Amino acid sequence: MPTNKFSRRDFIRTGTLTAGALALGPALSSLAASKPGKRLGIALVGLGYYSAGQLAPALQHTQNCYLAGIVTGTPAKAVDWAKRYNIPQKNIYNYQNFDEIALNPDIDIIYVVLPVFLHKEFTIRAVQAAKHVICEKPMALNAGECAEMIATCKKANRLLSIGYRLHFEPHNMEVMQLGQKHAFGKVTKIDTGNGFTYGGDPNAWRLKKKMAGGGGLMDMGIYSIQGTRYTLGQEPVAVKATQEKTKPDLFREVDETVFWELEFPGGLRTTGKSSYNHDWSYLKVEEEHGKFELGPAFGYNAIDGSVNGKQMPFPQIIQQAAQMDDFALCVTQNKPSRVPGEEGLKDMKVVDAIYRSLNSGKWEKIV
Ligand code: NAD
Repeated sequence: MPTNKFSRRDFIRTGTLTAGALALGPALSSLAASKPGKRLGIALVGLGYYSAGQLAPALQHTQNCYLAGIVTGTPAKAVDWAKRYNIPQKNIYNYQNFDEIALNPDIDIIYVVLPVFLHKEFTIRAVQAAKHVICEKPMALNAGECAEMIATCKKANRLLSIGYRLHFEPHNMEVMQLGQKHAFGKVTKIDTGNGFTYGGDPNAWRLKKKMAGGGGLMDMGIYSIQGTRYTLGQEPVAVKATQEKTKPDLFREVDETVFWELEFPGGLRTTGKSSYNHDWSYLKVEEEHGKFELGPAFGYNAIDGSVNGKQMPFPQIIQQAAQMDDFALCVTQNKPSRVPGEEGLKDMKVVDAIYRSLNSGKWEKIV
């Protein structure tokens, strides 16, 4: 299957691993028990592109949770969303009075859908308000922030999950099985890329290092890193990266295109790349006696794939609905998410090491 030409618009339109065991105490059990048979209430924090275009529509298809509240800094959006989604005034917050959400029994889960530099702050404020949290990718600006978020959630006895929707997507789940179970022998090769040609606002937060942490690597490369990790079910130990910048004015503060090699225990080396200037979305895997691949691999739908040249037979699903329903079930049943904060931390350790390698020009350990 050829690498698909894939624009941001297509991405918009088409768009197991190690679940760290969180200690769940009596507070959590009583919360779940107090709402028998009820759908849990989710509040979206940040009503930008992803909340408006994907999460709120997906919440119209969920079984275990529903859109109960919103947090926004824009009064006009509050009016519009209240009308469109029938959200009562008492469940609408802004960034200043957000902490009062602690007193609101309608809200069980807070979904942080803000620019990356606000992920840590709002995750911590959410668990301090005794809510469970889903935080969007990339989890935070760096691995240190991720570790802090995980520790705070654990201490508060609250579940934390990352918005890794592809863990619920059938084609990607098949790749996890085929890779981790060595369906055709040992994995001998993985190559993956994810990116789009940035044509948006040159002043957007995504292009500011302090707000985004980085560029195409943080935003799109995280999928390629995830894809490699969930194909192998192993953690990489070292990385060597290079980069290319053809639009230095636009990408003054952040990376444009990054290429990397990951080394895994046992010596396997895989390749990956990310970009804000190329349209990529693929994951290709070779094992000793067979191969499988996805392309488009990482969008919201129109995911396609093949195993030894034969098309995968899976349907498209509303990934975000499956992801949020699963987390609501985790909260109700007191069990950790399959995409806990620890998953986000593992990816950010790789991202941090890639940036170190770009600086040093050498192989860097992933620690
Ligand atoms: P966006 O810019 O469209 O929306 C961000 C929202 O945050 C806006 O409503 C903005 O008003 C609000 N905001 C609050 N404080 C802000 C501040 N100080 N500066 C700037 N904005 C502020 O961004 P988005 O595309 O919705 O992305 C939000 C998060 O969702 C990011 O972490 C992104 O990576 C993630 N995302 C995930 C997926 C996915 O498939 N899982 C897809 C798109 C975006």
